[in-house]
Amino acid sequence: MRYKFRALMLTFGEHLIFHSMQIKANDPSLKSWVDVPQNSDFPIQNLPFGIFRTEYMDAGAGVAIGNYVLDLTYLHENGFLSGLGLTQGVFNQKYLNDFIGLGKDVTRAVRNRISELLESGNKELRDRKAARELALIPMDEVEMLMPVQVPNYTDFYSSEEHARNVGSMFRDPENALMPNWKHLPVGYHGRASSIVVSGTPFHRPKGQTKANDAASPSYGPCRLLDFELEMAFITCKENGLGNSISTAEADDHIFGFVLFNDWSARDIQKWEYVPLGPFLAKNFASHISPWIVTMDALEPFRVKGPKQDPEVLSYLKYEGEKNFDISLQVGIAPEDSNETIVCNSSFKYMYWNVNQQLAHHSVNGCNIQVGDMYASGTISGPTPDSYGSMLELSWQGKNTIAMNDGSERKFIQDGDTVIMRGHAEKDGVRIGFGEVSAKVLSAKD
Ligand code: MN
Repeated sequence: MRYKFRALMLTFGEHLIFHSMQIKANDPSLKSWVDVPQNSDFPIQNLPFGIFRTEYMDAGAGVAIGNYVLDLTYLHENGFLSGLGLTQGVFNQKYLNDFIGLGKDVTRAVRNRISELLESGNKELRDRKAARELALIPMDEVEMLMPVQVPNYTDFYSSEEHARNVGSMFRDPENALMPNWKHLPVGYHGRASSIVVSGTPFHRPKGQTKANDAASPSYGPCRLLDFELEMAFITCKENGLGNSISTAEADDHIFGFVLFNDWSARDIQKWEYVPLGPFLAKNFASHISPWIVTMDALEPFRVKGPKQDPEVLSYLKYEGEKNFDISLQVGIAPEDSNETIVCNSSFKYMYWNVNQQLAHHSVNGCNIQVGDMYASGTISGPTPDSYGSMLELSWQGKNTIAMNDGSERKFIQDGDTVIMRGHAEKDGVRIGFGEVSAKVLSAKD
């Protein structure tokens, strides 16, 4: 069967294997000889890539399987990944940029080969005790690091529900969307240097704010600290300055996705953002989940996006299903207390899909780089419990959100940990992202 499939690939080329069932690592019937607990985010059908280190090992690339990290440096150096077009030392690095930059033919072949090695009937690694023990490291013994070095970061604003909520609050419910909103995926250039990995604590930002009734601005700690529930895609192929990427070509340029918490200081934002958009309200920290779930692994979870009306311009037209049905969740854990879930949303709600975002971003010839991060914008759903920020959940501080410990929130307090999770589920397969979690420390003196 496997032989037959390879022959098909050779005959018909690359286009066929974009179809989910034709990526053999996605087969729902696959089982691994590695123990994968029920409801794990990391079954054999996922195989997300990340960068880890341990007490004894320098940073290097790994793949998550159950509660283990598979050491790709070890596998590569010991011949388990030969013949796949990998360069020497490509995994023995602090970042995945060089690996993902090899292109999706190579990264897909590597994921398929890892699937083969971990499949229950395969003896190559399973029956070699010493190799197996060196290759598989328990997750609780590793520290996850930034998976890529991020050259550029862009934040879109692609959830209609979020844009309507914010537009209603700050302008007028009748004219909540700006005139451009349904004609182009609105975005802005963010700050790449302050994107950090899950678990990195950060201090409440300080800055300039101005109360509505104040004559002049004041300086001090942000009082309206907020999260934004987002997902981000990471690019793996350059277009070169002056060249555009079409919506059809975009799939080839997108390696995978992470969860993204785009922290926002609402009071700083309100005073600073006119006329050039977000600046210091957004660039003090953004957190990502450490495992990059490949676009390949998400193929079975494609769904149609919302109908786009009015019709979009030709360069934004696309074919096929470009949204992904990924359940998203946000929890707040106050200091020394348990977590309260405050939001359940889904990536499927996005009005503009990632192919359109990338096509729009490059239509003017802007050069996309390997490792760039493109965040979706806050992902809000249609119901109040699916709003992806405290700004919307508390409706600008008019409502309070009850915590399990009896306290209340309008925005995020010092000592709070905000946790975001995401997973897609179908045919008994759960493809998860793990989580992105970060604790807010008090402002520095
Ligand atoms: Mn944002």
